[in-house]
Amino acid sequence: MRLDIITCLPRLLDSPFSDSILKRAQEKGLVTVKVHDLREYSTHKHRTTDDYAFGGGAGMVMMIEPIDRCIAYLKAERTYNEIIYMSPDGELLTQSIANQLSLKENLILLCGHYKGIDERVREHLITREISIGNYVLSGGELAAAVVADSVIRLLPGVLNDETSALSDSFQDGLIAPPVYTRPAEYNGWKVPDVLLSGHQAKIEDWKQEKALERTKSRRPDLNMGLTS
Ligand code: SAH
Repeated sequence: MRLDIITCLPRLLDSPFSDSILKRAQEKGLVTVKVHDLREYSTHKHRTTDDYAFGGGAGMVMMIEPIDRCIAYLKAERTYNEIIYMSPDGELLTQSIANQLSLKENLILLCGHYKGIDERVREHLITREISIGNYVLSGGELAAAVVADSVIRLLPGVLNDETSALSDSFQDGLIAPPVYTRPAEYNGWKVPDVLLSGHQAKIEDWKQEKALERTKSRRPDLNMGLTS
């Protein structure tokens, strides 16, 4: 998979991709992540990428030209499955959207800043809009990193144990069961006996039961395994 992220603040995206799973995924050649600095596509003397809003009002608006030039440059190199604008009024990111996106080959994530981007970008240049939640961030970079993380960890070979993404919350419409590690007792607080029993079938039954219990009490809206 190839992921191109367009931003006017590329440094905000340095750390999410330089550690742990996302770093290893790139090193293994399973994903290529390129961050593009919009300022390099500005035709203005001071490499400006924003301007005042027509009609007035507080806050700057990101201009269409640098965004158009950057997208055109990328599209000349390869075909993109989706050009996604990170937006608080987009469709809410879910595990099922992450699953869908993980099957794509080339994706662009466009990050807004300030008051947002010129509406004509949304009308003419992008194919999809994704929100990471019903709250407003100061920029799309953290949201793009969230989308990228949720998608990249699903690519085959990224997680060491191939089945581990499948047993995560939401993947089967259920919340994941609780997990424990050593020591088996701490301050008198014990790990459930069944997990130490070595009886695999009983352990699986326990996990399933806990997953159902948790889903019922915490997220009854998930429909108990019927939806994702
Ligand atoms: N004025 C806009 C908010 C702009 S916030 C409004 O009221 O809708 C600046 C940028 O942050 C946006 O352009 C978008 O790219 C990003 N952003 C903010 N909140 C987000 C969210 N919940 N999900 C995804 N991107 C978000």
